[in-house]
Amino acid sequence: MLDNIKIVLVNTSHTGNIGSAARAMKTMGLSQLYLVDPVKAPDGHSSALAAGAGDVLANAKTVDTLQEAVADCGLVIGTSARSRTHSWPMLEPRGCGRKLISEVQNYPVALVFGRENNGLTNEELQQCHFHVCIPANPDYSSLNLAAAVQTLCYEVRMAFLEQKDMPESEESYPLNDDLERFYTHLESTLTGTGFIVKNHPGMVMTKLRRLFNRARPESQELNILRGILSSIDKAIK
Ligand code: SAH
Repeated sequence: MLDNIKIVLVNTSHTGNIGSAARAMKTMGLSQLYLVDPVKAPDGHSSALAAGAGDVLANAKTVDTLQEAVADCGLVIGTSARSRTHSWPMLEPRGCGRKLISEVQNYPVALVFGRENNGLTNEELQQCHFHVCIPANPDYSSLNLAAAVQTLCYEVRMAFLEQKDMPESEESYPLNDDLERFYTHLESTLTGTGFIVKNHPGMVMTKLRRLFNRARPESQELNILRGILSSIDKAIK
């Protein structure tokens, strides 16, 4: 079960942090490390800080984009040291651990960490179903990257250990790739009807993404929405 939980580090600057994150993961039983466009590839400094977790580091997969890393995931949770101006569904660390353990029974899931200097971009955060913030000291809430990985992986482990008492998740949610295809279709249909003006798209797709992220359509509901879009496409042709 823990092998289907991906820890995704986006555009990490310090190779030492990659090694420390691998160690943090292994101590909690996690093994799937994804590096999205790291500033520097893992090096000797990473290995030194990974210590006994050299296997996690050696198996880490490097990809170019966040979308590639989470394409096969049904649940993507992004981390943030502060709550952003736009509201997005939020989780507490404990709820985050429980949600990952509950849904990983159906498909791979991902926990995404940002850059040391400025976290995840808004665009990256918008690719996540939920955001999680460790409620740290409000005067200094930014943990070291690997310390944040440790804290949230610990919660995953606690949820894993208590999972016997939890009901199995019944809903079936679409994978990230299917959701992205839906957004592309939605944008193209709305451009076709003239609702979105090609040269002045405004914020409408961001707001619609937020709406659908909040509603979190199930697979069957997403199929209905795709069908509705196709019927509109046909009608305007
Ligand atoms: N200045 C950045 C902080 C980056 S810290 C910002 O404001 O976003 C590097 C990464 O560690 C973050 O992107 C996040 O993945 C993780 N992190 C640090 N502190 C955190 C916290 N309190 N809650 C959740 N994640 C945190």
